[in-house]
Amino acid sequence: MTLDGLITRDGAICVWCGREAWRRDLTAEHLLPRARRGHRTAENLAVACRTCNKRRRTKPVAAYVRAQLERGEQPRLDLLFDALERMSASASRPQAEYARRQLALLERLSPPLEPAAQDGARPRARTLRTNGPLALA
Ligand SMILES: [Zn+2]
Repeated sequence: MTLDGLITRDGAICVWCGREAWRRDLTAEHLLPRARRGHRTAENLAVACRTCNKRRRTKPVAAYVRAQLERGEQPRLDLLFDALERMSASASRPQAEYARRQLALLERLSPPLEPAAQDGARPRARTLRTNGPLALA
């Protein structure tokens, strides 16, 4: 799949930093890196800017996302979930297995990833949800 085809499919948005970039600054990111038996097939590719593609190197998707979150960055989890779901149906077994494993790991990361998950926000929301009906009763 060409970079242009990829941009048409996914948009000109980097999955790692979420920035919209010019075509010349975009690359076809291998979700399962080539060094780890990933192929240049449509389901193994996602759009990433040059800077992020270089910075991620061959880190597994979930490990890189965790590192990004620890740095306070906001990867496009929606795009990554879509991409990994697509990849989990890959005809290539290493790719399909990799995608399923990364999805499971990302899902485990998910609770702290909610947009409103700043300090204190989530516990408060949960308290409100559980206390609401009780307060009415
Ligand atoms: Zn980027």
